[in-house]
Amino acid sequence: LDVIASVEPRIAEATRKELADQRSSLKLIASENYASPAVLLTMGTWFSDKYAEGTIGHRFYAGCQNVDTVEALAAEHARELFGAPYAYAQPHSGIDANLVAFWSILAHRVEGPWLEKFSVKSVNDLSEADWESLRAELGNQRLLGMSLDAGGHLTHGFRPNISGKMFHQQQYGTDPETGLLDYDAVRAKAREFKPLVIVAGYSAYPRRVNFAKMREIADEVGATLMVDMAHFAGLVAGKVFTGDEDPVPFAHVTTTTTHKSLRGPRGGMVLATEEFAPSVDRGCPMVLGGPLSHVMAAKAVALAEARQPEFRTYAQHIADNAKSLADGFLSRGARLVTGGTDNHLVLLDVSSFGLTGRQAEAALLDAGVVTNRNSIPSDPNGAWYTSGIRFGTPALTTRGFGHDEFDRVAELVVDVLRNTQPGTTKAGGPSKASYVLADGVAERTHAASQEM
Ligand code: PLP
Repeated sequence: LDVIASVEPRIAEATRKELADQRSSLKLIASENYASPAVLLTMGTWFSDKYAEGTIGHRFYAGCQNVDTVEALAAEHARELFGAPYAYAQPHSGIDANLVAFWSILAHRVEGPWLEKFSVKSVNDLSEADWESLRAELGNQRLLGMSLDAGGHLTHGFRPNISGKMFHQQQYGTDPETGLLDYDAVRAKAREFKPLVIVAGYSAYPRRVNFAKMREIADEVGATLMVDMAHFAGLVAGKVFTGDEDPVPFAHVTTTTTHKSLRGPRGGMVLATEEFAPSVDRGCPMVLGGPLSHVMAAKAVALAEARQPEFRTYAQHIADNAKSLADGFLSRGARLVTGGTDNHLVLLDVSSFGLTGRQAEAALLDAGVVTNRNSIPSDPNGAWYTSGIRFGTPALTTRGFGHDEFDRVAELVVDVLRNTQPGTTKAGGPSKASYVLADGVAERTHAASQEM
């Protein structure tokens, strides 16, 4: 930090503060973690200075031999860890990984047959008229994904996201009574809509998914199954999700982030079957430019860590701790979406405390509990204010928290929420944003969390 401070002291200071904040608060954001020193250090190396557009052994720049080593190792660890025929380590983020996956599927399923029809090898060989027809065809495809308020991600066909614009999209939700995925309803929607792509996976669904069933549905309607395991990749890597709950054997294309439960650097990755491998391998130049070689190196280090036996113990603890947290909430009378959890996250309905998600999130932050507000199914408060708070256990599990600590976390959270009242607007009306946290609650929560 002294080296950084000698150039821009305010960045050194912000970095110091970030470390202090992350050490002194209860980090319960389901998509966050604490990467190891080895992973963090690997990101700060000279690989950051290297351009390497292309793929392993086939670059558009000279001098990429060391990047080739790095990318090949990241891919090898990913293939071995997840039992995938092919892995692509270049995407800079989860969104990039999904874009690579979408365009690979379009290239394989739409562009490939089109080029064959015209007996040409590349789109560059098409006449202007045929090219325009292909562009129209690419833009005329359908995607079925999980809706945002049921727990899906923006990139799963949400209209404001590019995925909802580049595809004709429809969304599946969850059962209004149980909050659980209803596979018969997904099947019925797929039969009617006949999508090219079905996306499974989630950001805020607190249950496991049966990927064998999702593949069965995809096969029935001729769709490609894409699974976005960004949130639960650590549970797949750690063999907590096996059999029908392991997406990799069932998905044609699997995408992930590397920084959530997988505990690596901030980034993305795509796994694929042999069939889809050649089109995924064209991620650059299709969607990506130069890869972040320093981050690919850190992915290789994180994946090597995830192949150690201790990672399986860690992953099991993530799931056990989520259950402890959920039980802690339920035993104190709180309402959870789906009534509990069997993955790494818990979705608390804060409307029973008379609060919006926004109010609850802010009051918890005052007390040193870092979470994020989240929509719940059929949320009356919409995606901005929301009625839910999402909790995840990966980060605090890395800090060594177990059953007793997570039960205490539930106690602290319920204490804060019970002592928070909705505030009023400047004009004196009801507010969905402002809140009043009773005196002394923040201090006692901070003090309790420092003891854990
Ligand atoms: N996919 C899912 C399921 C996610 O939850 C997220 C991020 O929260 C992403 C993709 C996007 O990842 P990133 O923020 O790295 O682009």
